[in-house]
Amino acid sequence: MNLLGIDFEDWYHPELVKPFVSQEDRKPAMFKGLDKILELLRKNDSQATFFTVGELLKSNPEILDKIISEGHEIGFHTMNHTRLDSLNYELEFRKELKEFEKLTDGKSIGFRAPTFSLNKKSSWVIDELIKNRYKYDSSVMPAKSSMYGIPNAQKSPYRITSSNIEKDDPSGTLIEFPLMVTKFLGKTIPAAGGFYLRFLPLKIIKNAIRSYQKINTPSTLYIHSWELTPEYFPKIKLPIKNQFITFHKIEKTFSKMNELLKEFEFTSFETYYKKI
Ligand SMILES: [Zn+2]
Repeated sequence: MNLLGIDFEDWYHPELVKPFVSQEDRKPAMFKGLDKILELLRKNDSQATFFTVGELLKSNPEILDKIISEGHEIGFHTMNHTRLDSLNYELEFRKELKEFEKLTDGKSIGFRAPTFSLNKKSSWVIDELIKNRYKYDSSVMPAKSSMYGIPNAQKSPYRITSSNIEKDDPSGTLIEFPLMVTKFLGKTIPAAGGFYLRFLPLKIIKNAIRSYQKINTPSTLYIHSWELTPEYFPKIKLPIKNQFITFHKIEKTFSKMNELLKEFEFTSFETYYKKI
C-alpha cells in the first residue's frame, strides 16, 4: 500500500513564491481546483490525505466537507504555511493547532510541516502534536536537498520523539511517515513528489515505489494542489532558480500523477494508520 499526501495550499504559499507576492495580491484561487483533484482520485479509486493550510478553510469552509465526504482525510499544514523553524513560532503554532481543530471539528490527526521544515531546531512540534491528540507526522525527508532533508533518518515509518527525530524511539507515541527517496547516480535523493516528480523520469519514481513495496514498506508521496491545477496559478515573475523549481514541467504533473494512481494503489495516512 502507498500513501498519498496532497499539500492543499494556495499559489502564494510556497516558500519560493511567498516573498514575491504582496499582501494585496494574495487572492485565494486553489479552491477552484479542488473538484478536478477529487475527480482524479475518484476515477482512479484512490484515497488521499489533504494536508491543508488552515487559511483556506477560513475563506472557503466548504472545502472540508468536499474532502471528507469522498472518503479522504484532512490533515494540518499550519494556518498560513509558516516554516516551523521561524523565529518564535512555537507559541503561535499552539494557537494555530486549536484554531485548526475548531475549523475541522477535531478531525485532523496528521501533520505535515511546510517545506519539510521539521529539524532539530523545530522538534518541539512533536510534543505539541502529541498534546493535541495527533497520531502521526509526515515531515521527514531522509535525503539532503537544497531546502530541507534529514539524510540519516529512517526510511520506513517509526516512532518519533522530540529528542530523536531520526530513528525509532520505543518511548514515542507519534508515528512518523518519512517521504520516499531513491538512489540516483549514487546519491540518495527525494523521489516522493513535487519538483522531483516533475523533474525525474516517471520510470525512476515507479521503480522507487516498487522497491518500497518489495520490502513491505509504504511509499509516501506528496503533491501540491497548485501543481495539479496550474491553470489557477497566476503567471508571476520569480527569480530564475525559484521560477525553475516552481514551474518546471508543471503542466505535466496531472498526467504523471494520473499514471501513478492508475498503476499503484494509494490510500490516506489515516486509513493506513488504523490498520497498523
Ligand atoms: Zn506546503
